[in-house]
Amino acid sequence: SIHVDGVSKRFGDFVALDDVSVDLPTGQLTALLGPSGGGKSTLLRIIAGLETADTGTVTIEGREATHLPPQKRNVGFVFQHYAAFKHMSVAKNVAFGLEIRHRPKTEVKKRVAELLELVHLDQFAHRLPSQLSGGQRQRMALARALAVEPSVLLLDEPFGALDAKVRKELREWLRRLHDEVHVTSVFVTHDQEEALEVADEIVVINEGRVEQVGTPDQLYDAPATDFVMGFLGPVT
Ligand code: ATP
Ligand code: MG
Repeated sequence: SIHVDGVSKRFGDFVALDDVSVDLPTGQLTALLGPSGGGKSTLLRIIAGLETADTGTVTIEGREATHLPPQKRNVGFVFQHYAAFKHMSVAKNVAFGLEIRHRPKTEVKKRVAELLELVHLDQFAHRLPSQLSGGQRQRMALARALAVEPSVLLLDEPFGALDAKVRKELREWLRRLHDEVHVTSVFVTHDQEEALEVADEIVVINEGRVEQVGTPDQLYDAPATDFVMGFLGPVT
């Protein structure tokens, strides 16, 4: 589970997050949904430990994590413009996190094969990242994030740069993957359709505040604020 309690964050005079609290149960796939500049990435980065909150606490799987560095939080993350190691094969990229942790070679090999199968890239193990399509590269990034068995998976607009058809494929695939591995996952999107289709629960964030938390049905049927109604209303 992820508990964010009373988190605020300023950049200079600008309030990016204003007393944000969310409570995400273990195994849930959550969408952080909201317009550009609303504070989604800032909240995700604070959960990841890439940014520190001015006030408030973050607890990950029962462990107080507010002051832990990212590598001690047992989180995997994928960002929109994912940087792969260009000179390493797909398999090497996925193995990297295990190798720097000095896992035994046979274990690494087995785990990488399992992960590549999971993300349907087993045919592409020996290619370079530059020889993959955008969607395949995002799946490689996911396999890499999952390699070290994080208890929490954080995805910041992982499919943002892709065309509509590939996005749709990937979001269906993310849903299936999540149902298979059950890792507590949070993904950021400004696409209401994506959030409504994929997430177990949606956190709507606007101007640094949580507008509403609910299942897709709850949000769609009973928007709590005018903002949520307007934002979810006309799905184009
Ligand atoms: P988008 O959908 O465009 O990615 P977002 O919801 O992820 O938006 P954030 O990146 O969290 O938004 O930014 C929230 C606000 O905080 C924005 O107004 C942004 O300009 C500001 N902000 C974020 N990071 C910084 C920073 N390092 N310094 C100053 N302002 C920042
Ligand atoms: Mg963002």
